[in-house]
Amino acid sequence: MTKTLVVTGGSRGIGAATCLLAAKDGWDVAVNFASNAAAAEDVAEQVRALGQQAVAIQGDVAREPDVIALFDQAEAQLGPVSGVVNNAGVVAPSIPVAEYDIARMRKVFDTNVMGAFLVAREAARRLPPERGGPGGAVVNVSSMAARLGSPGEYVDYAASKGAVDTLTVGLAKELAPSVRVNGVRPGLIATEIHASGGQPDRAERLAAGSPAGRAGEAEEVAAAIVWLLSDAASYVTGTNIDVSGGR
Ligand code: NAP
Repeated sequence: MTKTLVVTGGSRGIGAATCLLAAKDGWDVAVNFASNAAAAEDVAEQVRALGQQAVAIQGDVAREPDVIALFDQAEAQLGPVSGVVNNAGVVAPSIPVAEYDIARMRKVFDTNVMGAFLVAREAARRLPPERGGPGGAVVNVSSMAARLGSPGEYVDYAASKGAVDTLTVGLAKELAPSVRVNGVRPGLIATEIHASGGQPDRAERLAAGSPAGRAGEAEEVAAAIVWLLSDAASYVTGTNIDVSGGR
């Protein structure tokens, strides 16, 4: 049986690493991206080189029609979706809460919370066998920020990931036992997200203060995600794996 995986934000960072590791585990992959089509197509090409099918699909997870179209296209081109990685996420520049404007907060919550819920809802509609789906697994990409709060940096981002953690717990109970839902909480991972928040050196700068003494690699997070998607995690649902070097 073919295995079709949707990865939101699959064009770079943790999402891209997940697409490639999942391909090695036999998944065909729908590589979603927001704006960087060339990066997404490059990831899709690397998946094909590993012997799996792949398609790059543009779509903003905060837009309902885009999320529905993402799943429709993935199903049409790759077959029934049985794995979903709810990975797309953004940070905003590091400033204290007192200085936030509404546009900043809307962007963070629209992408990280509404986006995660829209993707989770499509998974809940399409994966359960009771609804004609193949069953499967969902992995939500949260953050250690949900537990640490990110004071002075981005408390809004941290809170958005707190919402993702609660989504994981609730949806896992709704969809059990036919669909498993879990989360991963990455710590400091060396990706471009830090530059997008105005701190390109953030992971390296803060890494020395973490128990692991270094930043993590996207592939180290992908390993946990792909394991949670796999049958090896068949009795694991409603929980998070912290991939944070002990932070
Ligand atoms: P990244 O390198 O900045 O990549 C972000 C990905 O998300 C890109 O593929 C981007 O697409 C996509 N994206 C952004 N907004 C989107 C939207 N509205 N709709 C669809 N796709 C969108 O980020 P990353 O570090 O890999 O982070 C991935 C996830 O891990 C996020 O949820 C993040 O919060 C979480 N996380 C990261 C860290 C870390 O230290 N890196 C730590 C904890 C948690 P384009 O290429 O088209 O822009």
